[in-house]
Amino acid sequence: MIFEKWLIPDKIFSSFTDVTPEMLRELGIRYIFSDIDNTLATYDDSVPPPETEKWLGKVRDKGISVIFVSNNDRGRVEKFANAAGLPCYWKAAKPATKVLRQAMSDAGAKPENSLLFGDQLLTDAAAGRRLGMRVFIVPPIRDKRSVFFRFKRRIEKPYLKKYYKTKKERKGDL
Ligand SMILES: [Mg+2]
Repeated sequence: MIFEKWLIPDKIFSSFTDVTPEMLRELGIRYIFSDIDNTLATYDDSVPPPETEKWLGKVRDKGISVIFVSNNDRGRVEKFANAAGLPCYWKAAKPATKVLRQAMSDAGAKPENSLLFGDQLLTDAAAGRRLGMRVFIVPPIRDKRSVFFRFKRRIEKPYLKKYYKTKKERKGDL
């Protein structure tokens, strides 16, 4: 399958709340480069909802840094990140890696202790994979029902299928 190694995540969770700090520590993850929209909040949440705040706090308490890396614009990203008190990068243009690489370098992160967390294979997963970090994906909290989004979801489908098909074999890799 074309681009398979870029688009298949290490793990898909049903929600960000299923990703526990303990599990991350066990994997040696110290830095989470996280998407915002549809991963940790909906487009309508201008600041982190209570559940997101709680999760961010739990992760931080375990000594894991969260850095927001979003393709959205400065206004949206900065407001959300400031409310959470966390660093952020906007207009990241994932799957491009320039901004993500900058974020890693600023944080002092290495691919082996980093996780890319997002809701989209074509942007989030691909960007993380290209820099050699682990990739966790959650289904979008709420899809924007635009034609473009539906088109992207259709492209993702075979990769999601393949993920579930090979899940068992890959378990040990996690
Ligand atoms: Mg997103």
